[in-house]
Amino acid sequence: MARDDLPDLRALGDGPFLLAPEYLLTPDGMRNGQAVVVADGRFADLGPVAEVLARRAGLARVDLPGCVLMPGFVDAHHHLAQAFGKALAFGEPSEIFRRVWVPLEGALDDTMIHRASKLAALEALRGGFTTVVDAGARSAADLGRMADAVREAGLRCVLGYVCNDGPESTPVQRDDILARAATHLDRFAQDPLVHASLAISIPEAATPEMLGAVAELCRARGVVFQTHINEHLASVERSIVARARRPFEVLRDAGALGPQTLVAHGALMTPSELLTLKETGTGIAYNPVASVWKGNAVAMAQLMTTMGVRLGLGTDGTRSDGFRLMDAAETCQRLAFGMPAGDFSCGAGWTWLDAASRGGADVAGLGAITGRIAVGLAADFLVVDVDVPEFQPSWDLDWELVRLGNRDQIEAVFVNGRLRLMHGWPVDWDARALMREVATSAKAAVAKAPILKLHPSAAASRATARAQGS
Ligand SMILES: [Zn+2]
Repeated sequence: MARDDLPDLRALGDGPFLLAPEYLLTPDGMRNGQAVVVADGRFADLGPVAEVLARRAGLARVDLPGCVLMPGFVDAHHHLAQAFGKALAFGEPSEIFRRVWVPLEGALDDTMIHRASKLAALEALRGGFTTVVDAGARSAADLGRMADAVREAGLRCVLGYVCNDGPESTPVQRDDILARAATHLDRFAQDPLVHASLAISIPEAATPEMLGAVAELCRARGVVFQTHINEHLASVERSIVARARRPFEVLRDAGALGPQTLVAHGALMTPSELLTLKETGTGIAYNPVASVWKGNAVAMAQLMTTMGVRLGLGTDGTRSDGFRLMDAAETCQRLAFGMPAGDFSCGAGWTWLDAASRGGADVAGLGAITGRIAVGLAADFLVVDVDVPEFQPSWDLDWELVRLGNRDQIEAVFVNGRLRLMHGWPVDWDARALMREVATSAKAAVAKAPILKLHPSAAASRATARAQGS
C-alpha cells in the first residue's frame, strides 16, 4: 500500500531538489537529521538539514518521514540477455552455460536482445538495483541494442564485450578481436549510463595471449575486465587436465589479474588463490543465489572481505531482488562457514549492505561514480519505506534492511538524479506494453534455440512422484 503521507516525487522533475529523509544511509552507517541536494544528476550537497537549508536557500525542503534514503544496489554480475530463460535453469546440474545460456543468447536477434535486456533492466530497477554489470552476451546481435534498452529503462550498466578467441588463435585473429574490443570501448566512452567493459567468458575460452592482452587493454583504458572462474568442479578439473592449472591460475599466469579485473564466483578457491586475489587487488563478484541454485560451493566471502579482498554481490541473472540477494549473501555464509565455526554474526549485516552497494561499485570500476551517498557522486538512490510492521520497533536498521527488507518497501528509484520507478513501475515508459511484447515473442525465440534442459518442471516432477507413491 502506497504511503499517502509522502510527497509526490514525480513533481521533483530534473531538479535541483532537496530531500530530508528520516534516515540517510552513508558509507559510515545510518544517520538521522540529514539532507541531500540533487542537481545535474549528482549529489551536490549533504549534511545536517539546517546547514544544507542555509546553504541552499532557494530550494524547498522535501521531507521523507519514515523513509531511508540509501544507495541503489549494484549487481556486480549479471547476464541481461538471459532474461527469457530464468526458470529454464531450475534444477539443472552445473555448467548450464553450455546447455542453456550459450544456445539461448546465440538465438537472439537485435529485436529480441533489446527486449530481453529491457525486461532484465526493468526487473533490476524493481529490485532496487540502480547499476548492473553485464558479463557479456555470447550473441551476434548488436550490443548497441542492449545499450538502448538500459538507457530507455534508465539503468546504469557496465556492458561487457566478449573477446573469446578459443583454445587456439593466430596473432592476426587476436588483433582483429582486440580492434573490435577497442571500438566497443570508444563507442560508449561519453555515455552517462553505459560503461563499456571487456570480457572472456571463462579462461578456457581464450588463449593465454588473449587473456593477457584483454586485461592489459582494460587496464590501459581504465575499464573492467570480466571473467568467470572456479565456479564448478567440472571446469576446475577440465582446466587442470588441459593446462595443468586451475582457472584462477591460468588467469594469474597470463598476467590477467589486477585492479581492473573482476572475477565472478570464485566459489572453489585455495588459500594461495585467496592471497593472490588480495595481493593483486582483483575484484570478485560473490553470487550466493547462483551457488544455491546451481553451484558446487559457496565463495568464502566473509573471509575475503575480512582479508581486504574487493568484493561485490552479483545475481548472475538468477533473480533481480537486492534485498533477497543480501539475505542470501548472509544466509549462505552462515550455513557454509558460520555454523561450523560457531559464528552467529557472519558479518553483522552491514557487511552485506556495504558489499551490495559500495563494494559492487568498486569492483565494477565505478567507485568514483556511484555506490555511495556522497557529494559529487551520481544520484543513484532508493527511497525505502521503513514505516512498516516488520520494522516496528526498530533496533538495528542497517541489519534489519538485510534480514527483513523487502522490495515492496521501495517507494522510488532514482538513477543519475532522475526518478525512474515509483512503487515498482516506470514513470516515463510503458512497462506493461513491454511485458505484452515479451509474452507474444519470447517463447518462440527460446523455442528456436538448441537448449538442452534436463530437469522436469515442478508439475512433471509432482506427477512422477505421485505415480511412484501410488
Ligand atoms: Zn555469470
